Amino acid sequence: MQLNRLSVHDLSELIKKNEVSSEEITKSHLERIRQVEEGIKAFVTVTEEEALAQARAVDERRAKGEELSPLAGIPMAIKDNICTKGVKTTCASKMLNNFIPPYDATVVEKLKSTGAVLMGKCNMDEFAMGSSTENSVFYSTKNPFNAEAVPGGSSGGSAAAVAAGEAAFALGSDTGGAVRQPAAFCGVIGLKPTYGYISRSGLISYASSLDQIGPLTRDMTDLALILNVICGHDSKDSTSVAVDAPDFTKSLVNDVKGLRIGLPKEYFGTGLAPEVAAKLQEAVRKLEELGAICEEATMPHTEYAPAAHYIISSAEASSNLARYDGVRHGLRAEAEDVLTMFKKTRSQGFGEEVKRRIMFGTYALSTDNYDAYYTKALKTRNLVKQDFERAFEKFDLLLTPTSLTTAFKISEKAEDPMAMYLSDACTIPVNLAGVPAMSLPYGMVEGLPVGLQLIARHFDEGTLLRVGYTLEQSTDQTRPTPDL
Ligand code: GLN
Repeated sequence: MQLNRLSVHDLSELIKKNEVSSEEITKSHLERIRQVEEGIKAFVTVTEEEALAQARAVDERRAKGEELSPLAGIPMAIKDNICTKGVKTTCASKMLNNFIPPYDATVVEKLKSTGAVLMGKCNMDEFAMGSSTENSVFYSTKNPFNAEAVPGGSSGGSAAAVAAGEAAFALGSDTGGAVRQPAAFCGVIGLKPTYGYISRSGLISYASSLDQIGPLTRDMTDLALILNVICGHDSKDSTSVAVDAPDFTKSLVNDVKGLRIGLPKEYFGTGLAPEVAAKLQEAVRKLEELGAICEEATMPHTEYAPAAHYIISSAEASSNLARYDGVRHGLRAEAEDVLTMFKKTRSQGFGEEVKRRIMFGTYALSTDNYDAYYTKALKTRNLVKQDFERAFEKFDLLLTPTSLTTAFKISEKAEDPMAMYLSDACTIPVNLAGVPAMSLPYGMVEGLPVGLQLIARHFDEGTLLRVGYTLEQSTDQTRPTPDL
């Protein structure tokens, strides 16, 4: 049995029936990591010993007859900007190369308490800035479907780890698409929750008003199981919403009859690869066959969203990253006086893209430019948000591509920041509006997976799960597997 291809719930069943131990599952994933990691490079750190110890502890608890969570003994991978107690958390930056957090992020604490096993920390674009995982200070991660293609970003390591069978599920973070776009490129499911639904405590900030942690999984049941653990209020995050999360497994319903799905025409225009468009049309026809009502929608401010995102996210980043000054966190360069020390630390510690964002953000916030850029971007954000509000008066759900193309080639956009920025055009508006969205695989084009994005009203993750689950039950398009 190939344990490393099974879903969380399948593994959990096997453990429950005593057919396999957590230790065996962990070992099989470690073996898989040894086999494929050389070619994929999904991890920055593999926590082999800790993982085995955690797995054995789960086996002992089970032997004592304790009732355990479905996630107990399940191998997980965590993006390297989410704090893990005692395990290096680098943000793929020289600045935090030696940072060992003294605490776990709330999501990690919650997952660990279920008995989920931490396999390691995943590669990413430095400080989550990027769309290809090429901005990591360590190395770029490869797409498990094609080693010449990027895995997407910035959570490329997390998506690749799940696709390659190195972990049963992973966590990433999504500021403008960094969970959904790599999920699409690597043929897995990725969800960005409603803003405030999953605690950001212990997530190293990039752009606080947009950042959200999100899971990457192989099927909808797994997604529901993980959301059940990590969603909900956290007093350590002032932006966490005080609502009780439902039992998400109740949304795993095979029925979309009567559901009104909008297809915003702005997402299906210029730049959309014809083969991707064809796959999406197939998905739409499938949903119609199953009883959903699909109609064209319009969201007129979509084209302005990327500009607003890059101004707002860079502005927030320039403030958030001011703390890396050689005094409070991370790297410290030696110098005779304190000002030179600040300058040297920041010039040595940050990579090119991070510096570009800090300069851009500082410029957009400066007295002379504030109104022209930052205020205008905030107004634009509001217009984008209103587009969603209006669309949701008529539709229960919106369907778009996750990305206009399948995974692009390594180096193809690395020297062209504008091209790289625009590769998130379909995912960015969602973060500006704070609504939940999910990417799920729908078939392949020339050996690379296609991602379908579903967007719902605030706190309506349930409808995303329902539609995803229905598709999963009715087609074989939703589970592409790389041939590694
Ligand atoms: N590509 C976008 C950026 O670089 C979004 C990345 C993300 O969601 N972290 O800002």
